[in-house]
Amino acid sequence: MKTSEIRQKFLDFFASKGHQIVASSSLVPGNDPTLLFTNAGMNQFKDVFLGFDKRPYTRATTSQKCVRAGGKHNDLENVGYTARHHTFFEMLGNFSFGDYFKRDAILFAWEFLTSPQWLGLPKEKLMVTVYATDDEAFDIWNQEVGVPAEKIVRIGDNKGAAYASDNFWTMGDTGPCGPCTEIFYDHGEHIWGGPPGSPDEDGDRFIEIWNNVFMQFNRDETGTLHPLPKPSVDTGMGLERVSAVLQGVHANYEIDLFQALLKAAAREVSVPFSQDVPSLKVIADHIRACAFLIADGVLPSNDGRGYVLRRIIRRAIRHGYKLGQKGLFFHKLVADLAAEMGGAYPELRERQAVIEDALKQEEIKFAETLDKGMALLEAALAKGEKELDGKTAFQLYDTFGFPLDLTADICRERELTIDQAGFDAAMEAQRAQSRAASTFKMSGNVDYSGDDTCFNGYDLVSVDARVLALYKGH
Ligand code: ATP
Ligand code: MG
Ligand code: MG
Ligand code: MG
Repeated sequence: MKTSEIRQKFLDFFASKGHQIVASSSLVPGNDPTLLFTNAGMNQFKDVFLGFDKRPYTRATTSQKCVRAGGKHNDLENVGYTARHHTFFEMLGNFSFGDYFKRDAILFAWEFLTSPQWLGLPKEKLMVTVYATDDEAFDIWNQEVGVPAEKIVRIGDNKGAAYASDNFWTMGDTGPCGPCTEIFYDHGEHIWGGPPGSPDEDGDRFIEIWNNVFMQFNRDETGTLHPLPKPSVDTGMGLERVSAVLQGVHANYEIDLFQALLKAAAREVSVPFSQDVPSLKVIADHIRACAFLIADGVLPSNDGRGYVLRRIIRRAIRHGYKLGQKGLFFHKLVADLAAEMGGAYPELRERQAVIEDALKQEEIKFAETLDKGMALLEAALAKGEKELDGKTAFQLYDTFGFPLDLTADICRERELTIDQAGFDAAMEAQRAQSRAASTFKMSGNVDYSGDDTCFNGYDLVSVDARVLALYKGH
């Protein structure tokens, strides 16, 4: 079953159960300063769960664009290393706003996964987790659905403080949250890893495909949980993960959609196609996040969302460089992505030229310093230390436009770390210096802290102009 068919089947199934099909919201969350990017299907319904917003429906289903590259849910460092994490992915979800609760949510999920009419997955390959004290969910799985007790794992308090565990889902530090039950697929003994709750659960044999959250609380800034007006349901299933299961492959990168992107990446980087080259996986992953973010109005910049985008683009460019591609290539993948996903997300086609242009500009900009920066880094690494010194990391950041995580990514490939304290100290020293410089320039009664000038090398140009403008005014 193709990825696009699975997406449609999911929506059809929940529509047949009285759910309204709602379009994905933007990756830039509207009116939610607590959130960097949309990281789950429930984000666009946050106020409905909290009781502040009312919709003409009490059941909804979506296929939601998500990015997890910052904030509470950050999978950037996992990309290329695990079989199951992307920066951008699609989350299929069904939602109940004070309508059905645990029982129906579990029964729907099981029917969709196992009924031959829908996905028809073999029941014996599935296992589930419930929140440690959630006897109700345990009993529904065990007695009504018929999952044997040994395939239901209680997770919660054993992982430290209650409510901090994996089976208590939270969107961020604040907001709607609640206990959850997760469904895992067993990819087989030949793959390393143990069942959830076991010491080697981080392996990729058992892959979490679907999380069903029983939304019951709102967490405030102090961490206090307040009951929601009505118990609700929020679920999320990773489309790429369930595609892998249905297509009989283990890693998300082996599904139809990613095969096309990996081939395109190999073509543009001029290396033979392979699905086992981490850098190709990173590029295939990152083109989705970057293109979708730009389509939703984010542009590379030096702070906030724009800086996260800049970091992802530069990581992708560096991985191309690592494979030997010193020219511009990344923006050429947009057409391939639009061909794969433009049907479901027309904004990719509508804004293709804008996306290509923004990526190309960023490639041109980074090309000016990448080569020199790499030479500096190689020279530092050639010293054979276990740790990259903070001064070099800062120079790369400040002068050559290497975000710290990009440098860390390169170091990690060589099993090295970065002297973070040294980096911070170099950053602070530069801040102090430019504070002094800008106070000097101001000399009059304008109080300008000059903090912005320190963010990185590129800012200096524009901020200097601002300082100059202020100064002229006096
Ligand atoms: P994991 O433990 O594997 O990191 P999670 O528990 O953080 O996943 P949830 O927040 O429960 O994930 O999100 C719901 C579903 O979205 C997951 O069950 C999974 O199928 C999918 N998902 C989560 N993160 C990613 C990701 N980075 N890339 C692809 N799919 C993801
Ligand atoms: Mg996760
Ligand atoms: Mg999990
Ligand atoms: Mg989960």
